[in-house]
Amino acid sequence: RMGRLATIKTLAGFDFTFQPSLDRDRIFTLAQLGFVDRHEAVHFLGPPGTGKSHLATALGVEAVKAGKSVYFTNLADLIGSLARSEREGRLQERIRFFCRPSLLIVDEIGYLPVVQGGGNLFFQLVNARYERGAMILTSNRGFAEWGDVFGDPVVATALLDRLLHHAVVVQIEGSSYRLRQHAELMPEH
Ligand code: ADP
Repeated sequence: RMGRLATIKTLAGFDFTFQPSLDRDRIFTLAQLGFVDRHEAVHFLGPPGTGKSHLATALGVEAVKAGKSVYFTNLADLIGSLARSEREGRLQERIRFFCRPSLLIVDEIGYLPVVQGGGNLFFQLVNARYERGAMILTSNRGFAEWGDVFGDPVVATALLDRLLHHAVVVQIEGSSYRLRQHAELMPEH
């Protein structure tokens, strides 16, 4: 199920001409969903508004259409949920819950600071899914900054060890689609 998905974003609704750094064929290969069957991690990296969540969602929609189970969340909500379950003594149960979907999409890594202990909880989930289920992750921060994002360089290294082993990294270099009508406000690039 697509969890708490507000608006449906599709590949058909994505304007590839707006984002020339993005390899359209690569995205359509991902839409064939081989990465789901191979239990890989797909990373969308880039500045805000460049379509990372849109593409993550659109691939989730393709997976649902193919009959796969998909869960969509963002990092802050996911960690909040794991932390609540830990307080209730049900962490392992919650981790098993998040291991069930064939594809887990974790949006918005890097926007909000991760709460104390949150990186460790996320690591336990990533480790449990490692080589057992696919993930899509979106982040506005490069991997080198994950130590800061998670407030813990050791946890960040352990996370990246799992999340980059069988991985596809899609880096988007471009300007925000949200600000496209305000070209005069955009930095030159
Ligand atoms: P990000 O996750 O990178 O911050 P989003 O995917 O949330 O960006 O995109 C911001 C908004 O712009 C969304 O409404 C999204 O559907 C739209 N959008 C972004 N890029 C494109 C694009 N290339 N074609 C069509 N819509 C886009």
